[in-house]
Amino acid sequence: MTATSDDRVTTGDDAERAAVLHFRTCPLCEAGCGLEVAVRDGAVTRIRGDRANLFSKGFICPKGSSLKQLHEDPDRLRGPVVRRGDDPASAAWEEVSWDEAFAEIERRLLPVLEAHGRDAAAIYVGNPNAHTMAGTMYLRPLIKALGTTNVFSASTVDQMPKHVSSGLMFGGAGLMPVPDLDRTDYLLMLGANPWESNGSLCTAPDFPGRLKAIQARGGRFVVVDPRRSRTAAEADEHLAIIPGTDTQFLLALANVLFADGLVDLGALAGFTNGLDEVRSLVAPFTPEAVAGISGIDAAVTRRLAHELAAAPSAAVYGRIGTHTTSFGTLASWAVDVLNVLTGNLDRPGGAMFPSAAHDRAPKPGPGRGYVTGRRTSRVKGYPEVNGEFPAAALADEIETPGSGQVRALVTVAGNPVVSTPNSDRLDAALASLDCMVSVDIYRNETTRHAHVILPPPSALERSECHLAFFSLSVRNHVQWSPPVFEPTGPGEHEILARLALLLSGMGADADPAVMDDLLVTALLQQAQTAADSPIADRSLEELTAALSGASAVDRLLDAMLRTSARGEFFGARPGGLSLDALAANPHGIDLGALEPRLPALLRTPTERIELAPPTIVADVPRLAATLTAAPRDGEVLLVGRRHLRSNNSWMHNLDVLVKGKPRCTLQVHPDDAGRFGLTDGGRAQVASRVGKVVAPVEVTDEIRPGVVSLPHGWGHDRPGTDLTVAAAHAGVNSNVLTDEEVLDPLSGNAALNAIPVMVSPVSGGAPD
Ligand code: SF4
Repeated sequence: MTATSDDRVTTGDDAERAAVLHFRTCPLCEAGCGLEVAVRDGAVTRIRGDRANLFSKGFICPKGSSLKQLHEDPDRLRGPVVRRGDDPASAAWEEVSWDEAFAEIERRLLPVLEAHGRDAAAIYVGNPNAHTMAGTMYLRPLIKALGTTNVFSASTVDQMPKHVSSGLMFGGAGLMPVPDLDRTDYLLMLGANPWESNGSLCTAPDFPGRLKAIQARGGRFVVVDPRRSRTAAEADEHLAIIPGTDTQFLLALANVLFADGLVDLGALAGFTNGLDEVRSLVAPFTPEAVAGISGIDAAVTRRLAHELAAAPSAAVYGRIGTHTTSFGTLASWAVDVLNVLTGNLDRPGGAMFPSAAHDRAPKPGPGRGYVTGRRTSRVKGYPEVNGEFPAAALADEIETPGSGQVRALVTVAGNPVVSTPNSDRLDAALASLDCMVSVDIYRNETTRHAHVILPPPSALERSECHLAFFSLSVRNHVQWSPPVFEPTGPGEHEILARLALLLSGMGADADPAVMDDLLVTALLQQAQTAADSPIADRSLEELTAALSGASAVDRLLDAMLRTSARGEFFGARPGGLSLDALAANPHGIDLGALEPRLPALLRTPTERIELAPPTIVADVPRLAATLTAAPRDGEVLLVGRRHLRSNNSWMHNLDVLVKGKPRCTLQVHPDDAGRFGLTDGGRAQVASRVGKVVAPVEVTDEIRPGVVSLPHGWGHDRPGTDLTVAAAHAGVNSNVLTDEEVLDPLSGNAALNAIPVMVSPVSGGAPD
């Protein structure tokens, strides 16, 4: 049986006559906006927001409509390529068949594993995997088949602190509360710029519109950011904090709540541990003690604490600027401590736990809790977190000889040479690998080192369901869409499955359907053995035969949906969710506003919120030591920034997104420009412990004195890439400056913000 969809509508518009409209989810960022894609004669004629989409209601950003250009980009790989030559800068690339590509991988990769063991291989998983069904469903089997402990991902340059604090406080790394944007009266937002990024770890199409709605209904939103970002400019109040001090500021707010008798846990009081310990932990962080290092006046901190406590509902939300520091986990913890202390966790208008469409019913009883450090990295001894080691440690593991040295690498999307710390070092390390295989649509700064590149189809050639983000959505909902165009090669799930089977010793020509069957069977068997399963007595063959979907990922999705808490269980619960139900609703299915879910959702062994987990408590003295740290002479602090037309590094090859005024500039406050002899439009050298770059200067009072900013994701001037447009708008790579030795010790997350740098003018070819 195959799911059908009524998403194909012939337009009556003269200009679009004979075009067919396809409604689908934009996969480019967490917002997952609904798109309307018009196709005529096999080509996209227009992409705009789907006004009938129940969740995004027509909202779209400039990146969404560029899916057409991404699909048509001549530099996008359409078939596998093999590198001929050792030096990526001068090597030739040969187009080969899929069979030849897998045979080449078998020839190169397996001997490395046989000679040196499974840990001689590493895998790096990039951010785009969270946006595809194949990434969500097939990466785990691939990692298992590779059999290595050397697993790295973009999570440790982004969000790992939130996973760790959630794991320790709520018992599950995926239990991440999001601000209930549509009902809150007060939002305190740190290190986030949703006017440009449209939100992260908080799925909310038209985030800016939702913020304006807070103001329109008489509420307030306050932004804490070293830059007057577009979001800060629209806020009711902007606090230009000194980078790297968000955690101390958050604990100062908690300090005031305790000192002024404003703590009120409300319903949470019945299942929260550790309140007294938190009171002791925050005692040193008085507003006065924190004011000197954060630049936030003590009176302002006190007022904000009182506002938070007095608001009918309020949410504190911290994002990448808070996570990508050496105190990332403490910052993430402090955010939710404030949500608990004000009684705003798990209540409408506060910070709430979404319920994903494919979630199964929560297990009753205590959870096993959350642990990290089940093993440590070979070279630096970093603890494992969520089964991974820090991306910042990858170069160490490649460069350092000895048993377990990484000699082969598989990358699946991502561009760590641009997005992880001390890029130049990683770039050099990748050049020394015996074998590298990349699953990627581009030959970019990272994949130019690969010996074989396997390109998945374009985003318009696959079915779409934003599975990873339903559990982060400010409103419960679900949507799915079939491919706009039939893929011209194997689907991404087939590529990953074939790679996994090859690594399992089943040969280069193994049939990916073997993996599909294994995954479907495992999923259905799990559902059959759950307590009170309505399908316990049904035969596996019957259930498998009843699945809808034209591809394996769709059939797996159908199995997930039908056996979820809202599922139709193969007819046992009529009206429940299934792929067919989603196909019949191309503008999405609204599953309602967020609802309180605690304490049932908690997976801590105590079945209570752990407000003072020992791992966190043990790290607070490190933070307290910063209160008396002396500033270092001559240094300024480097921070990153986002732009609406940029999506990390990988959308820079689309002219429609990069044209216009160069955006990769070093933002400098006028006072600092005077101090360092910099001029607007001139050039500056920026130097850190690990590297230096020369960038054009933009003098602006948008940034606070003592801070400079470079956007991330640029630096497209390395030889051997095939990114024609990006190379013409190369910019400089901010991660040449970030330091792989500076991490958040609890999560392994890289510190990409608050990097100490020296700035000097450049005239002609050299620094003055
Ligand atoms: S905000 Fe994100 S999901 Fe929405 S159109 Fe833009 S890139 Fe796509």
